[in-house]
Amino acid sequence: MDYFSYENGTMYCEGVSLEQIASEIGTPFYVYSAKSFSDSFNTFSNAFKGREKIICFAVKSCPNIGILSLLGSLGAGADIVSGGELHRALRAGINPEKIVYAGVGKTRQEIREALDAGILMFNAESAQELDVLNEEAKKAGKRARIAIRVNPNVDPKTHPYISTGLKKNKFGISVETVREQFRYAAGLDSLDVEGVHCHIGSQLTDVSPFADAAKIMVSLIKDLRADGIDIKYLDMGGGLGITYNDETAPEHEDYAKAILEAAGNLDITLIFEPGRNLSGNAGVLVTRVLYTKDSGTKHFKIVDAAMNDLARPSLYDAYHGILPVCETAETITCDVVGPVCETGDFLAKDRIAADVPVGGLFAVMSAGAYGMSMASNYNSRPRAAEVLVSGGNYYIIRRRETYADLTGPESVPSFLRNR
Ligand SMILES: *Cc1c(COP(=O)(O)O)cnc(C)c1O
Repeated sequence: MDYFSYENGTMYCEGVSLEQIASEIGTPFYVYSAKSFSDSFNTFSNAFKGREKIICFAVKSCPNIGILSLLGSLGAGADIVSGGELHRALRAGINPEKIVYAGVGKTRQEIREALDAGILMFNAESAQELDVLNEEAKKAGKRARIAIRVNPNVDPKTHPYISTGLKKNKFGISVETVREQFRYAAGLDSLDVEGVHCHIGSQLTDVSPFADAAKIMVSLIKDLRADGIDIKYLDMGGGLGITYNDETAPEHEDYAKAILEAAGNLDITLIFEPGRNLSGNAGVLVTRVLYTKDSGTKHFKIVDAAMNDLARPSLYDAYHGILPVCETAETITCDVVGPVCETGDFLAKDRIAADVPVGGLFAVMSAGAYGMSMASNYNSRPRAAEVLVSGGNYYIIRRRETYADLTGPESVPSFLRNR
Protein backbone atom coordinates (compact mmCIF):
# COMPACT_ATOMS: atom_id res chain seq x y z
CA MET A 1 0.00 0.00 0.00
CA ASP A 2 2.45 2.62 -1.24
CA TYR A 3 -0.19 5.33 -1.22
CA PHE A 4 -0.40 5.32 2.57
CA SER A 5 3.06 5.70 4.05
CA TYR A 6 4.87 7.14 7.05
CA GLU A 7 6.78 10.39 7.06
CA ASN A 8 8.47 11.29 10.34
CA GLY A 9 6.45 8.65 12.13
CA THR A 10 2.98 9.68 10.98
CA MET A 11 0.87 8.28 8.18
CA TYR A 12 0.22 10.25 5.05
CA CYS A 13 -1.93 9.62 2.01
CA GLU A 14 -0.30 11.15 -1.06
CA GLY A 15 1.35 13.83 1.05
CA VAL A 16 -1.71 14.63 3.18
CA SER A 17 -1.48 13.86 6.89
CA LEU A 18 -4.23 11.58 8.14
CA GLU A 19 -3.90 13.19 11.57
CA GLN A 20 -4.62 16.55 10.03
CA ILE A 21 -7.73 15.28 8.25
CA ALA A 22 -8.90 13.71 11.52
CA SER A 23 -8.43 16.94 13.43
CA GLU A 24 -10.36 18.87 10.78
CA ILE A 25 -13.31 16.56 10.08
CA GLY A 26 -13.42 14.21 13.09
CA THR A 27 -13.47 10.42 13.09
CA PRO A 28 -14.24 7.83 11.87
CA PHE A 29 -13.72 8.47 8.17
CA TYR A 30 -12.72 6.63 5.03
CA VAL A 31 -9.89 8.14 3.04
CA TYR A 32 -9.12 7.12 -0.54
CA SER A 33 -6.07 7.79 -2.69
CA ALA A 34 -6.93 8.97 -6.20
CA LYS A 35 -3.50 7.91 -7.42
CA SER A 36 -4.04 4.40 -6.13
CA PHE A 37 -7.24 4.16 -8.18
CA SER A 38 -5.65 5.55 -11.31
CA ASP A 39 -2.50 3.42 -11.04
CA SER A 40 -4.53 0.23 -10.50
CA PHE A 41 -6.90 1.08 -13.32
CA ASN A 42 -4.06 1.85 -15.71
CA THR A 43 -2.06 -1.31 -14.91
CA PHE A 44 -5.22 -3.39 -15.27
CA SER A 45 -5.95 -1.77 -18.60
CA ASN A 46 -2.35 -1.95 -19.86
CA ALA A 47 -2.21 -5.67 -19.11
CA PHE A 48 -4.71 -6.08 -21.97
CA LYS A 49 -2.98 -3.61 -24.30
CA GLY A 50 -3.87 -4.08 -27.91
CA ARG A 51 -7.14 -5.91 -27.19
CA GLU A 52 -10.61 -4.45 -27.56
CA LYS A 53 -11.84 -4.13 -23.98
CA ILE A 54 -14.14 -2.30 -21.60
CA ILE A 55 -13.26 -2.15 -17.91
CA CYS A 56 -16.44 -1.78 -15.92
CA PHE A 57 -15.78 -0.89 -12.27
CA ALA A 58 -17.96 -2.96 -9.94
CA VAL A 59 -19.91 -0.12 -8.33
CA LYS A 60 -20.94 -2.17 -5.32
CA SER A 61 -17.36 -2.34 -4.05
CA CYS A 62 -17.08 1.43 -3.58
CA PRO A 63 -20.14 3.29 -4.81
CA ASN A 64 -19.41 6.92 -3.92
CA ILE A 65 -20.11 9.16 -6.94
CA GLY A 66 -16.80 10.95 -6.33
CA ILE A 67 -14.99 7.65 -6.86
CA LEU A 68 -17.16 6.69 -9.83
CA SER A 69 -16.53 10.05 -11.40
CA LEU A 70 -12.76 9.60 -10.94
CA LEU A 71 -12.87 6.16 -12.57
CA GLY A 72 -15.15 7.44 -15.33
CA SER A 73 -12.60 10.15 -16.09
CA LEU A 74 -9.99 7.41 -16.57
CA GLY A 75 -12.23 5.67 -19.10
CA ALA A 76 -13.90 3.10 -16.87
CA GLY A 77 -17.44 1.90 -17.35
CA ALA A 78 -19.60 0.48 -14.58
CA ASP A 79 -20.81 -2.93 -13.55
CA ILE A 80 -24.09 -2.39 -11.74
CA VAL A 81 -26.41 -4.69 -9.81
CA SER A 82 -29.38 -2.40 -9.07
CA GLY A 83 -31.32 0.65 -10.17
CA GLY A 84 -29.63 2.55 -7.37
CA GLU A 85 -26.23 1.77 -8.81
CA LEU A 86 -27.43 2.81 -12.28
CA HIS A 87 -28.47 6.13 -10.77
CA ARG A 88 -25.04 6.55 -9.18
CA ALA A 89 -23.16 5.65 -12.36
CA LEU A 90 -25.20 8.11 -14.44
CA ARG A 91 -24.90 10.85 -11.79
CA ALA A 92 -21.13 10.33 -11.89
CA GLY A 93 -21.14 10.85 -15.65
CA ILE A 94 -20.21 7.30 -16.63
CA ASN A 95 -20.93 6.61 -20.28
CA PRO A 96 -24.09 4.42 -20.42
CA GLU A 97 -22.57 2.57 -23.35
CA LYS A 98 -20.04 1.22 -20.87
CA ILE A 99 -22.55 0.04 -18.27
CA VAL A 100 -23.32 -3.66 -17.79
CA TYR A 101 -26.08 -4.80 -15.47
CA ALA A 102 -25.95 -8.11 -13.56
CA GLY A 103 -28.09 -9.49 -10.75
CA VAL A 104 -30.49 -12.38 -10.24
CA GLY A 105 -33.44 -10.21 -9.24
CA LYS A 106 -33.78 -7.22 -11.56
CA THR A 107 -37.25 -5.68 -11.20
CA ARG A 108 -39.26 -4.49 -14.22
CA GLN A 109 -38.86 -0.94 -12.98
CA GLU A 110 -35.08 -1.32 -12.86
CA ILE A 111 -35.06 -2.89 -16.32
CA ARG A 112 -37.06 0.02 -17.73
CA GLU A 113 -34.65 2.52 -16.19
CA ALA A 114 -31.66 0.74 -17.69
CA LEU A 115 -33.35 0.56 -21.12
CA ASP A 116 -34.08 4.30 -20.91
CA ALA A 117 -30.46 4.99 -20.06
CA GLY A 118 -29.31 2.94 -23.06
CA ILE A 119 -26.86 0.73 -21.19
CA LEU A 120 -24.45 -1.53 -23.07
CA MET A 121 -25.83 -4.82 -21.84
CA PHE A 122 -27.99 -6.74 -19.43
CA ASN A 123 -26.31 -9.81 -18.00
CA ALA A 124 -29.36 -12.05 -17.73
CA GLU A 125 -29.34 -14.69 -15.02
CA SER A 126 -32.41 -16.85 -15.72
CA ALA A 127 -34.82 -17.99 -18.42
CA GLN A 128 -37.65 -15.99 -16.86
CA GLU A 129 -35.55 -12.85 -16.86
CA LEU A 130 -35.03 -13.25 -20.63
CA ASP A 131 -38.79 -13.10 -21.14
CA VAL A 132 -39.15 -10.05 -18.91
CA LEU A 133 -36.28 -8.26 -20.68
CA ASN A 134 -37.90 -9.03 -24.02
CA GLU A 135 -41.33 -7.81 -22.88
CA GLU A 136 -40.03 -4.59 -21.36
CA ALA A 137 -37.86 -3.82 -24.39
CA LYS A 138 -40.82 -4.36 -26.71
CA LYS A 139 -43.10 -2.15 -24.58
CA ALA A 140 -40.49 0.60 -24.66
CA GLY A 141 -40.07 0.22 -28.43
CA LYS A 142 -36.42 -0.63 -27.91
CA ARG A 143 -34.05 -3.53 -28.26
CA ALA A 144 -32.23 -4.91 -25.24
CA ARG A 145 -28.65 -6.01 -25.72
CA ILE A 146 -28.01 -8.99 -23.54
CA ALA A 147 -25.42 -11.44 -22.39
CA ILE A 148 -26.33 -14.56 -20.47
CA ARG A 149 -24.50 -15.14 -17.24
CA VAL A 150 -23.01 -18.59 -17.39
CA ASN A 151 -22.21 -20.60 -14.33
CA PRO A 152 -19.06 -22.44 -15.43
CA ASN A 153 -18.93 -24.57 -12.27
CA VAL A 154 -15.37 -23.55 -11.49
CA ASP A 155 -14.24 -23.57 -7.88
CA PRO A 156 -12.55 -20.24 -7.10
CA LYS A 157 -11.19 -21.62 -3.80
CA THR A 158 -12.19 -18.59 -1.76
CA HIS A 159 -14.50 -17.94 1.17
CA PRO A 160 -17.81 -19.84 0.63
CA TYR A 161 -19.84 -16.59 0.83
CA ILE A 162 -17.90 -15.02 -2.01
CA SER A 163 -17.77 -17.94 -4.44
CA THR A 164 -20.43 -17.49 -7.09
CA GLY A 165 -19.53 -19.78 -9.99
CA LEU A 166 -20.42 -23.16 -8.54
CA LYS A 167 -23.57 -25.11 -9.38
CA LYS A 168 -24.83 -24.74 -5.83
CA ASN A 169 -24.69 -20.92 -6.09
CA LYS A 170 -27.75 -18.91 -7.13
CA PHE A 171 -26.00 -17.06 -9.96
CA GLY A 172 -26.18 -17.57 -13.69
CA ILE A 173 -27.31 -20.52 -15.79
CA SER A 174 -25.45 -23.80 -15.69
CA VAL A 175 -22.99 -24.28 -18.54
CA GLU A 176 -24.62 -27.58 -19.54
CA THR A 177 -27.98 -26.02 -20.35
CA VAL A 178 -26.98 -22.52 -21.32
CA ARG A 179 -26.61 -23.16 -25.03
CA GLU A 180 -30.35 -23.88 -25.22
CA GLN A 181 -31.06 -20.69 -23.32
CA PHE A 182 -28.96 -18.73 -25.79
CA ARG A 183 -30.93 -20.20 -28.69
CA TYR A 184 -34.16 -19.38 -26.91
CA ALA A 185 -33.01 -15.78 -26.25
CA ALA A 186 -31.92 -15.39 -29.88
CA GLY A 187 -35.48 -16.23 -30.93
CA LEU A 188 -37.01 -13.45 -28.82
CA ASP A 189 -37.84 -10.51 -31.06
CA SER A 190 -36.68 -7.58 -28.91
CA LEU A 191 -33.39 -9.01 -27.68
CA ASP A 192 -29.97 -8.73 -29.28
CA VAL A 193 -27.90 -11.58 -27.90
CA GLU A 194 -24.36 -10.27 -27.99
CA GLY A 195 -22.43 -11.52 -25.00
CA VAL A 196 -21.45 -14.28 -22.65
CA HIS A 197 -20.79 -13.41 -19.03
CA CYS A 198 -19.36 -15.14 -15.99
CA HIS A 199 -18.25 -13.99 -12.56
CA ILE A 200 -16.86 -16.88 -10.57
CA GLY A 201 -16.15 -15.31 -7.21
CA SER A 202 -14.29 -12.65 -5.33
CA GLN A 203 -10.81 -12.21 -3.85
CA LEU A 204 -9.24 -14.90 -6.06
CA THR A 205 -5.53 -15.12 -5.38
CA ASP A 206 -4.88 -17.82 -7.96
CA VAL A 207 -5.33 -17.18 -11.69
CA SER A 208 -5.98 -20.80 -12.67
CA PRO A 209 -9.76 -20.64 -12.00
CA PHE A 210 -9.92 -17.63 -14.35
CA ALA A 211 -8.04 -19.61 -17.00
CA ASP A 212 -10.41 -22.57 -16.53
CA ALA A 213 -13.48 -20.34 -16.77
CA ALA A 214 -12.10 -18.50 -19.81
CA LYS A 215 -11.52 -21.78 -21.66
CA ILE A 216 -15.11 -22.85 -20.98
CA MET A 217 -16.42 -19.48 -22.14
CA VAL A 218 -14.34 -19.45 -25.31
CA SER A 219 -15.52 -22.91 -26.27
CA LEU A 220 -19.10 -21.79 -25.60
CA ILE A 221 -18.63 -18.74 -27.83
CA LYS A 222 -17.45 -20.99 -30.66
CA ASP A 223 -20.51 -23.22 -30.19
CA LEU A 224 -22.83 -20.23 -30.16
CA ARG A 225 -21.29 -18.75 -33.28
CA ALA A 226 -21.76 -22.14 -34.92
CA ASP A 227 -25.42 -21.85 -33.90
CA GLY A 228 -25.58 -18.54 -35.76
CA ILE A 229 -25.54 -16.34 -32.66
CA ASP A 230 -23.17 -13.46 -33.21
CA ILE A 231 -21.38 -13.12 -29.86
CA LYS A 232 -19.41 -9.87 -29.70
CA TYR A 233 -18.52 -9.63 -26.00
CA LEU A 234 -16.82 -11.93 -23.54
CA ASP A 235 -17.42 -10.57 -20.04
CA MET A 236 -15.14 -12.31 -17.54
CA GLY A 237 -16.58 -10.58 -14.48
CA GLY A 238 -14.47 -9.42 -11.56
CA GLY A 239 -12.93 -11.23 -8.66
CA LEU A 240 -9.22 -10.54 -8.99
CA GLY A 241 -7.84 -10.50 -5.45
CA ILE A 242 -5.62 -8.13 -3.51
CA THR A 243 -3.18 -8.44 -0.62
CA TYR A 244 -4.86 -7.88 2.74
CA ASN A 245 -2.32 -9.70 4.88
CA ASP A 246 0.14 -12.35 3.74
CA GLU A 247 -1.66 -13.59 0.61
CA THR A 248 0.07 -12.97 -2.71
CA ALA A 249 -2.23 -11.23 -5.15
CA PRO A 250 -1.72 -12.18 -8.79
CA GLU A 251 0.01 -9.67 -11.00
CA HIS A 252 -2.27 -8.07 -13.58
CA GLU A 253 -0.01 -9.47 -16.30
CA ASP A 254 -0.52 -13.04 -15.06
CA TYR A 255 -4.26 -12.56 -14.88
CA ALA A 256 -4.26 -11.14 -18.40
CA LYS A 257 -2.09 -13.98 -19.66
CA ALA A 258 -4.46 -16.59 -18.23
CA ILE A 259 -7.39 -15.05 -20.05
CA LEU A 260 -5.65 -14.06 -23.27
CA GLU A 261 -4.19 -17.54 -23.71
CA ALA A 262 -7.67 -18.99 -23.54
CA ALA A 263 -9.03 -16.31 -25.89
CA GLY A 264 -6.30 -16.92 -28.47
CA ASN A 265 -7.04 -14.97 -31.63
CA LEU A 266 -10.79 -15.00 -31.10
CA ASP A 267 -12.25 -11.78 -32.45
CA ILE A 268 -14.07 -10.47 -29.39
CA THR A 269 -14.38 -7.42 -27.14
CA LEU A 270 -13.39 -8.30 -23.61
CA ILE A 271 -15.27 -6.90 -20.64
CA PHE A 272 -13.94 -6.95 -17.09
CA GLU A 273 -15.72 -6.05 -13.89
CA PRO A 274 -13.04 -5.46 -11.28
CA GLY A 275 -14.22 -4.10 -7.95
CA ARG A 276 -11.96 -4.95 -5.03
CA ASN A 277 -8.87 -5.06 -7.25
CA LEU A 278 -9.22 -1.33 -7.94
CA SER A 279 -10.76 -0.10 -4.70
CA GLY A 280 -9.57 -2.42 -1.92
CA ASN A 281 -6.13 -1.00 -1.29
CA ALA A 282 -7.12 2.50 -2.36
CA GLY A 283 -8.83 3.27 0.95
CA VAL A 284 -8.36 3.06 4.71
CA LEU A 285 -10.70 3.65 7.61
CA VAL A 286 -9.35 6.05 10.24
CA THR A 287 -10.66 5.64 13.76
CA ARG A 288 -9.83 7.09 17.19
CA VAL A 289 -9.21 5.10 20.37
CA LEU A 290 -11.93 5.94 22.90
CA TYR A 291 -10.97 3.63 25.76
CA THR A 292 -8.67 0.79 26.59
CA LYS A 293 -9.43 -1.95 29.06
CA ASP A 294 -8.09 -5.21 30.39
CA SER A 295 -10.32 -8.15 31.18
CA GLY A 296 -7.55 -10.08 32.93
CA THR A 297 -6.92 -12.28 29.93
CA LYS A 298 -7.47 -9.78 27.14
CA HIS A 299 -6.65 -6.22 26.29
CA PHE A 300 -9.24 -4.24 24.37
CA LYS A 301 -8.83 -1.13 22.30
CA ILE A 302 -12.28 0.38 22.01
CA VAL A 303 -12.40 2.63 18.95
CA ASP A 304 -15.03 4.91 17.44
CA ALA A 305 -15.49 2.82 14.26
CA ALA A 306 -17.54 -0.35 14.44
CA MET A 307 -19.07 -3.19 12.47
CA ASN A 308 -21.64 -0.76 11.08
CA ASP A 309 -18.75 1.14 9.46
CA LEU A 310 -16.73 -1.90 8.35
CA ALA A 311 -18.64 -5.17 8.39
CA ARG A 312 -16.06 -7.45 6.78
CA PRO A 313 -14.32 -8.66 9.97
CA SER A 314 -17.66 -9.52 11.61
CA LEU A 315 -19.23 -10.89 8.44
CA TYR A 316 -16.42 -12.94 6.90
CA ASP A 317 -13.86 -12.98 9.68
CA ALA A 318 -11.86 -10.90 7.22
CA TYR A 319 -8.38 -9.64 8.04
CA HIS A 320 -7.57 -5.94 7.85
CA GLY A 321 -4.19 -4.56 8.84
CA ILE A 322 -4.43 -2.22 11.84
CA LEU A 323 -1.69 0.41 11.81
CA PRO A 324 -1.09 3.39 14.06
CA VAL A 325 -1.47 6.77 12.38
CA CYS A 326 1.35 7.97 14.66
CA GLU A 327 3.92 5.24 15.12
CA THR A 328 4.46 4.05 18.69
CA ALA A 329 7.40 2.27 20.25
CA GLU A 330 5.27 -0.29 22.08
CA THR A 331 3.05 -3.06 20.74
CA ILE A 332 0.32 -4.99 22.51
CA THR A 333 -1.81 -8.06 21.75
CA CYS A 334 -5.37 -6.81 21.72
CA ASP A 335 -8.86 -6.97 20.28
CA VAL A 336 -9.79 -3.80 18.41
CA VAL A 337 -13.52 -3.41 18.97
CA GLY A 338 -16.21 -0.83 18.28
CA PRO A 339 -19.03 0.59 20.39
CA VAL A 340 -21.81 -1.55 18.85
CA CYS A 341 -23.69 -3.83 21.24
CA GLU A 342 -22.70 -7.13 19.62
CA THR A 343 -19.95 -9.55 20.59
CA GLY A 344 -19.33 -9.86 16.85
CA ASP A 345 -18.41 -6.19 16.69
CA PHE A 346 -14.68 -6.25 16.16
CA LEU A 347 -12.18 -4.93 13.62
CA ALA A 348 -9.35 -7.24 14.73
CA LYS A 349 -8.96 -10.08 17.21
CA ASP A 350 -5.88 -11.19 19.16
CA ARG A 351 -3.81 -8.86 17.06
CA ILE A 352 -0.35 -7.61 17.86
CA ALA A 353 -0.95 -3.93 17.23
CA ALA A 354 0.73 -0.66 18.10
CA ASP A 355 -0.11 0.35 21.67
CA VAL A 356 -1.97 3.48 20.60
CA PRO A 357 -3.16 5.43 23.65
CA VAL A 358 -6.62 6.85 24.24
CA GLY A 359 -7.13 9.73 21.81
CA GLY A 360 -4.71 8.24 19.27
CA LEU A 361 -5.63 7.07 15.78
CA PHE A 362 -5.60 3.74 14.00
CA ALA A 363 -5.77 3.24 10.26
CA VAL A 364 -7.70 0.11 9.29
CA MET A 365 -5.98 -0.83 6.07
CA SER A 366 -7.32 -2.18 2.75
CA ALA A 367 -10.80 -0.93 3.57
CA GLY A 368 -11.65 0.65 0.22
CA ALA A 369 -13.73 -2.26 -1.08
CA TYR A 370 -16.94 -3.41 0.59
CA GLY A 371 -16.21 -1.03 3.46
CA MET A 372 -18.36 2.09 3.22
CA SER A 373 -20.40 0.20 0.67
CA MET A 374 -21.72 -2.17 3.35
CA ALA A 375 -21.95 0.44 6.11
CA SER A 376 -25.23 0.73 7.95
CA ASN A 377 -26.83 2.82 10.67
CA TYR A 378 -27.01 -0.08 13.11
CA ASN A 379 -27.16 1.18 16.68
CA SER A 380 -28.27 4.51 15.16
CA ARG A 381 -24.73 5.42 14.32
CA PRO A 382 -24.48 8.11 11.63
CA ARG A 383 -22.36 6.82 8.79
CA ALA A 384 -18.75 7.97 8.50
CA ALA A 385 -17.44 10.66 6.19
CA GLU A 386 -15.52 9.80 3.02
CA VAL A 387 -12.56 11.77 1.76
CA LEU A 388 -10.65 11.58 -1.52
CA VAL A 389 -7.03 12.69 -1.61
CA SER A 390 -5.62 13.97 -4.88
CA GLY A 391 -2.65 16.14 -5.75
CA GLY A 392 -1.80 16.96 -2.13
CA ASN A 393 -5.33 18.08 -1.22
CA TYR A 394 -8.28 16.29 0.30
CA TYR A 395 -11.88 16.55 -0.76
CA ILE A 396 -14.93 15.51 1.27
CA ILE A 397 -16.88 13.25 -1.07
CA ARG A 398 -19.45 12.26 1.54
CA ARG A 399 -20.10 14.36 4.59
CA ARG A 400 -20.56 12.66 7.92
CA GLU A 401 -24.22 11.83 8.49
CA THR A 402 -26.14 13.82 11.09
CA TYR A 403 -28.84 12.77 13.55
CA ALA A 404 -31.34 14.45 11.22
CA ASP A 405 -30.19 12.07 8.46
CA LEU A 406 -30.99 9.15 10.75
CA THR A 407 -34.64 10.02 11.27
CA GLY A 408 -35.20 11.97 8.04
CA PRO A 409 -37.12 9.25 6.18
CA GLU A 410 -39.13 8.23 9.28
CA SER A 411 -42.37 9.62 10.64
CA VAL A 412 -44.58 9.21 13.68
CA PRO A 413 -47.99 7.86 12.55
CA SER A 414 -50.88 10.32 12.71
CA PHE A 415 -52.65 8.47 15.51
CA LEU A 416 -49.71 9.16 17.78
CA ARG A 417 -49.22 12.80 16.93
CA ASN A 418 -50.37 15.65 19.24
CA ARG A 419 -50.15 13.45 22.29
C1 LIG B 1 -19.40 -8.28 -7.04
C2 LIG B 1 -19.29 -8.44 -8.48
C3 LIG B 1 -18.13 -8.02 -9.15
C4 LIG B 1 -16.92 -7.46 -8.45
O1 LIG B 1 -16.27 -8.40 -7.65
P1 LIG B 1 -14.82 -8.09 -7.08
O2 LIG B 1 -14.44 -9.31 -6.34
O3 LIG B 1 -14.96 -6.90 -6.17
O4 LIG B 1 -13.93 -7.79 -8.22
C5 LIG B 1 -18.10 -8.14 -10.53
N1 LIG B 1 -19.16 -8.65 -11.21
C6 LIG B 1 -20.28 -9.06 -10.59
C7 LIG B 1 -21.39 -9.60 -11.40
C8 LIG B 1 -20.39 -8.97 -9.21
O5 LIG B 1 -21.50 -9.40 -8.62
